[in-house]
Amino acid sequence: MIENKNRIKKVLIANRGEIAVRIIRACREMGISTVAICSEADKDALHAQLADETVCIGPAPAKDSYLKMDRIISATCATGADAIHPGFGFLSENSKFADLCRKCNITFIGPSPEVIDKMGNKAEARKTMMDAGVPVVPGTKEPVYTAEDGKKLADNMGYPVIIKASAGGGGKGMRIVEREEDFNKHFETASQEAKNAFGDDTMYIEKYIPRARHIEFQILADNYGNVIHLGERDCSIQRRHQKMIEEAPSFAISEVLRKEMGEVAVRAAKAAKYTNAGTIEFILDQEDNYYFIEMNTRIQVEHGVTELITGIDLIKEQLKVASGEPISITQEKVKIRGHAIECRINAENPMNNFLPSPGLITSLHFPGGNGVRIDSALYSGYKIPAVYDSLIVKLMVHDANRDLAIQKMRGVLGELVIEGIDTNIDFQYQIINHEDYKKGNIDTGFIERLLNKKE
Ligand code: ADP
Repeated sequence: MIENKNRIKKVLIANRGEIAVRIIRACREMGISTVAICSEADKDALHAQLADETVCIGPAPAKDSYLKMDRIISATCATGADAIHPGFGFLSENSKFADLCRKCNITFIGPSPEVIDKMGNKAEARKTMMDAGVPVVPGTKEPVYTAEDGKKLADNMGYPVIIKASAGGGGKGMRIVEREEDFNKHFETASQEAKNAFGDDTMYIEKYIPRARHIEFQILADNYGNVIHLGERDCSIQRRHQKMIEEAPSFAISEVLRKEMGEVAVRAAKAAKYTNAGTIEFILDQEDNYYFIEMNTRIQVEHGVTELITGIDLIKEQLKVASGEPISITQEKVKIRGHAIECRINAENPMNNFLPSPGLITSLHFPGGNGVRIDSALYSGYKIPAVYDSLIVKLMVHDANRDLAIQKMRGVLGELVIEGIDTNIDFQYQIINHEDYKKGNIDTGFIERLLNKKE
């Protein structure tokens, strides 16, 4: 066998929490050494303990540690790592960082800086997709800079519309406008929020699709022009445009539509000249029309449900592609088996406006059994720092069909014990047990309606 000279031997994981742990485990299985980075607040964190080596790179605030590009690059060079896995969040979609890696001869495990740039600018991504014949939500063709210009375009489009930030992510800088007279007010808040969060208030406007479903396709692409999709995930259960429950496959689409959307997703990835793992996100309306909304150029939080139904390890595929190997499977060989559901368990209090609830885990019990997967960095006695994301456990189940998967999820939610902090376990239990959820009668407004009914 010819030795692959580009094979990655040591990976620095530029992230924390469960995704860092997930990547460390995949590397370990592949015989790749690992370097963790941590902030001063994370010295006792699981990822810092599990990696072969750990480098503390700065104080607790992410801007002084997990977002400090120069320190991360220095840690990579000092430990002799040859690649960086950025995980999700933090620097994962930062083209400057990917470019810096390239300049320092470090393999960035993800697409090229050019592609990150192109897809990260959502207004530009819309253009790329329109040119490739991928349906996009009807909306503005050029970026919008002022409320006055925006309002003219929105008036022409007809209400409701959704104002979005071109640099947006995580549901920030986004506002729905139902009536003409509210446009200016919402535009100002959305662009202010975008400026604060991303330092960029370039906006665009789309027609708001009521009662939509969020359907996204997992893409894998290598350096040799092979692009495949691994089916879809339905992420319609959201709160404030943020996903809470994801499942695969989607209950809402037929076999014919699945095939068509999958082919369009592959076309979209090819148009973007994509490599590595990525996601093409669509909105599906009540009449089965689908529209591209964005491409995420990184591994997603919810990648595990795709792994459960396809048996393909996405992190390992990412590492292989970054090592210059072709993807290990062809489109024809991708087989979808059964149904998987993920509930995101957050350290937050649903009774108090979902206020984050960091603190000491005094007692912990994880359920297990056939078809149960838990991705987490928690342990009993661990103190969750207040400065980072509140996602603490990704609870996943896999069974032969949706009904059985729901039944299983109900069981594991009932068994999961996390004491010392507030969590959304009971809230997730309510959703999973809801008649509409069970019937698959869901759309992105489901949680909001549930919360409004209670008030
Ligand atoms: P972000 O990058 O901030 O996550 P997205 O563009 O991916 O933003 O949208 C997040 C969510 O907002 C979608 O999953 C969907 O629920 C809602 N959304 C976005 N665009 C539309 C639209 N045109 N009509 C209806 N809902 C939308």
